[in-house]
Amino acid sequence: MSFQNKVVLVTGASSGIGAATAIAFAAEGARVAIVGRNEKKLAVTAEQCEKKGSKPLFIAADVTKDEDVIRIMKDTINHFGKLDVLVNNAGIAPNASILAPDAMDTFDKTMTTNLRSVVHLTHLAAPYLVESKGNIVNVSSIAALSVVVNYSSAYSTSKAGLDHFTRCVALELAAKGVRVNTVNPGPVKTDILESAGVTAEQRDAMMAAVSKMVPLGRVGEPEEIADVILFLASDKAKSVTGSTYVSDNGMVMNGIMQIPE
Ligand code: NDP
Repeated sequence: MSFQNKVVLVTGASSGIGAATAIAFAAEGARVAIVGRNEKKLAVTAEQCEKKGSKPLFIAADVTKDEDVIRIMKDTINHFGKLDVLVNNAGIAPNASILAPDAMDTFDKTMTTNLRSVVHLTHLAAPYLVESKGNIVNVSSIAALSVVVNYSSAYSTSKAGLDHFTRCVALELAAKGVRVNTVNPGPVKTDILESAGVTAEQRDAMMAAVSKMVPLGRVGEPEEIADVILFLASDKAKSVTGSTYVSDNGMVMNGIMQIPE
């Protein structure tokens, strides 16, 4: 899966799945643009990419701000001259009740971060992807599918919207040679729950409980999701578009009935 001379833009590259993805693309020879708000953490990813032999374009930006999104695309094209792969990964996962007084603020912030920013970046990237016959990988979640997560209506709705947006754009851009897919991870060990106010102890307890529930008996690692993203972005997946690629250690199989042997 060589990405030699391919230009890849990864949002949310300062942490977790996005950081692992940027580093994996750099290791495969890609020229990478990395986006995030936390410059300290983004610098750590940049250092790791450079160690793999590819100095990335560092873009400190907030994907919820239109002017930042426009700058992300301008800087990428000015620096590299083209775009081959867009990975829309930046996301938040607030843990919030629909009964909470600030439920509408949570909904707006989640939809703006997880969905509107993807629509905007896709709109700006599409002409360049048509030119390069490139592709898009959107990082969704099994929360968009049959797994219903408590206190997660805003998050799950944003990801379900993202999946259907992906299919609509995949159809529209197929005729122009551009593929668009999602990867839908189950629980992965990252900072996302702590960023939503969950303590490290609560997160570890949740991950331990999930490990016991899922058929493969484990939770995901960011590098495993990065592997799927690289596959979907590669020519090996040239027949794959409009798909939701689940990587969840078997969690969406919940509800299975095992006949005793
Ligand atoms: P992390 O919290 O580790 O990373 C989230 C990334 O998104 C950070 O780099 C953060 O950067 C970035 N981000 C968030 N808001 C913004 C913003 N407004 N502007 C720019 N960047 C932003 O979480 P994960 O790696 O787990 O999450 C990555 C994706 O994976 C998300 O879309 C998430 O929904 C999805 N996912 C995660 C699962 C999990 O269990 N971890 C399961 C299923 C899906 P910064 O703070 O620097 O801005």
